[in-house]
Amino acid sequence: MKSLGDISIQFIKGVGPARVKLFENLGVRTVEDLFYLFPHRYEDRRKLTPVSELKIGEWQTTVGEVMAKGGRRAFFHKKHLFEITIADDKGRVRCVWFNQPYLENYINVGDQVVLYGRVELFNDRIQIVSPEYEIITDGDDGLNTARIVPVYPLTKGITQKYLRKIMNTALAQYGSLIVDVVPQDILKRQGFSSLSSSLSQLHFPDDEKSQLAANERVSFDEFFLFQVSVILRRLSIARKKGFAHFIPPELLSRFEKAFPFVLTSAQKKAIAEITRDLREETPMLRLLQGDVGSGKTVVSFFGCLAAVSNGHQAAMMAPTEILAEQHFATFTKYFSDGPLGDVRSVLLTGTLKKKEKDNILAKIKAGDVDVIIGTHALLEEDVQFKDLSFVAIDEQHKFGVKQRALLSSKGKNPDVLVMTATPIPRTLCLTLYGDLDVSVIDEKPQGRGEVKTYHVVDEQADGVYQRVAEWLKKGTQAYIVYPIIEESQQADLKAAVAMFERFKKEDFKDFRVGLIHGKMKRSEMLLTMEKFKKHEIDILVTTTVLEVGIDVANANVMVIEHAERFGLAQLHQLRGRIGRSEKSAVCVLLGDPQTQEGEMRLKAVIKTTDGFKIAEKDLEIRGPGQYFGRHQHGLNELRVVNPLTQLKVLETARQEAVSFVKSDPLLKESAHHWVRETIRRRYPEYLERVLAG
Ligand code: ADP
Ligand code: MG
Repeated sequence: MKSLGDISIQFIKGVGPARVKLFENLGVRTVEDLFYLFPHRYEDRRKLTPVSELKIGEWQTTVGEVMAKGGRRAFFHKKHLFEITIADDKGRVRCVWFNQPYLENYINVGDQVVLYGRVELFNDRIQIVSPEYEIITDGDDGLNTARIVPVYPLTKGITQKYLRKIMNTALAQYGSLIVDVVPQDILKRQGFSSLSSSLSQLHFPDDEKSQLAANERVSFDEFFLFQVSVILRRLSIARKKGFAHFIPPELLSRFEKAFPFVLTSAQKKAIAEITRDLREETPMLRLLQGDVGSGKTVVSFFGCLAAVSNGHQAAMMAPTEILAEQHFATFTKYFSDGPLGDVRSVLLTGTLKKKEKDNILAKIKAGDVDVIIGTHALLEEDVQFKDLSFVAIDEQHKFGVKQRALLSSKGKNPDVLVMTATPIPRTLCLTLYGDLDVSVIDEKPQGRGEVKTYHVVDEQADGVYQRVAEWLKKGTQAYIVYPIIEESQQADLKAAVAMFERFKKEDFKDFRVGLIHGKMKRSEMLLTMEKFKKHEIDILVTTTVLEVGIDVANANVMVIEHAERFGLAQLHQLRGRIGRSEKSAVCVLLGDPQTQEGEMRLKAVIKTTDGFKIAEKDLEIRGPGQYFGRHQHGLNELRVVNPLTQLKVLETARQEAVSFVKSDPLLKESAHHWVRETIRRRYPEYLERVLAG
């Protein structure tokens, strides 16, 4: 039978070749992809707010007729401004958009428009700035008005109306092919309706209740399948034989002597948990969770040294070259000629010269080096270890499960420690990382200054630069961070480079300004970073390449430009680069949020520096429909709406998955055929290992 995952959307009526291309931008290639393109919110158009009842300060949806329109260049802003006035029988409201001149040709007097945005008071009149808009004048097929309407993430060339129409057509055309993967007895027990009716309610709900039920049902599927694969994997690992390291108590005390500081009790606890695992023959698979700056690296070094002291090798993989370099520098600082003797370590990255690289590879293979620190380059086929017994993966959410498995497969079931600074609420963690044991570092090293965070609107950026200059005069160093979002990379990069030029000549002409971004030569980037570390540069203009790991204690000021464009977790990560010494630190979020979520994100980072609280807030703010998984956790995407609102479903799915695997550990029963097939397709890296034994 043909699966929806094999049917291209070109077969849906109304989707031509040009649109197929555009849909790719949304990650949609197949009918199945389309069904799982969830609305990021819904609008209840059964009861829109009349214009006369709009409330200042609220995010609202209203509808009216366009009475007047006009575009001009607002001289004080140097920006293009387009405005319309809409009215219903009782009132009128002004709407403005900046720098979107094409709207002049798009919205016309006489159009009926639905608008969503924040209502403000400006010169005593109410207005909405940059609302989401939709013209509903002509031809409604019952999908766009007088009902709960899905609002989708869009891409250029695909409108809400078109997407709704295609979704509706596809559901009619292919809805009957949606199979229930989860066995019927489970569905019955949980009182769930079919997946096909749930998906259809998820897109076009009859009412709020059925929309919520549909969410639960669809999430259950995702959680259940993922859980089953996670449990299978856990079982397969438990059956394997790895290394039983010998770890005498004095190893820890000698290890501790290597550092100029004392380990926090949270670090000690994590090390104790790891030690227990290392001693067992069963391979360790442990997640080390700890907020930025909590000192995870040191903990992973302990694992490396345990391997070495048993005569084996250890590998540590980091997602960026800068970070690998930094870890290597830290490691050699403490352990070449430390209290544990001279541990032989090497750095392996993609930019090594061939000769140098061959030389290093030969040493790794021959066992002439003990600790190998590197980037993705470690995964390459020609990297062969003599005897790898411990693997650490830093910032593991930047890697996939596959890469994790690939590195481990270079040893004979080595002990694996993965590290992340993305804190996840406990319940979720259990589900997402059911195949991992978890250690948490919930305490920061003593003597860290406070980080104060402020939001400043774009207009006052110059004032911020002046303040930064004052701080620099006092000897601190600073970062100025620019966003680079994939699609618009070129333009963004230009902005960062242009500002760098300006800073050098104007705002920071008395200081040493550096620039790093992902498109420059690695060697140049590393050199600049090195200079910044040595305080030969005062202020570093950078893109998000800075995001992970970087550790420069004297940098205590950070300005994040266009802060509204960053995700919450990303803002937290970035801010984690400062406040690494006893001095207090300042983080300025520059930007003008254009959406409610954007505004909430900034508020959340200002309010707390606690990574766990931020993670929870992050989940809360994310609208339904944002895939949860790939980017945050390095997992295949879980196609669910906001998991925080689904904790009950999550728990139910876990329990069902446990008894499911217990009853049929090899997924042999015919009623379980679809579970097996689906896992094989979606989580192959989990299943293969199980069935291969
Ligand atoms: P993260 O958990 O973000 O990876 P790091 O491992 O990079 O944190 O550690 C951040 C900084 O704190 C490093 O400079 C490290 O040397 C330092 N550090 C680690 N543990 C301690 C400790 N117990 N006391 C003081 N400083 C520490
Ligand atoms: Mg780190």
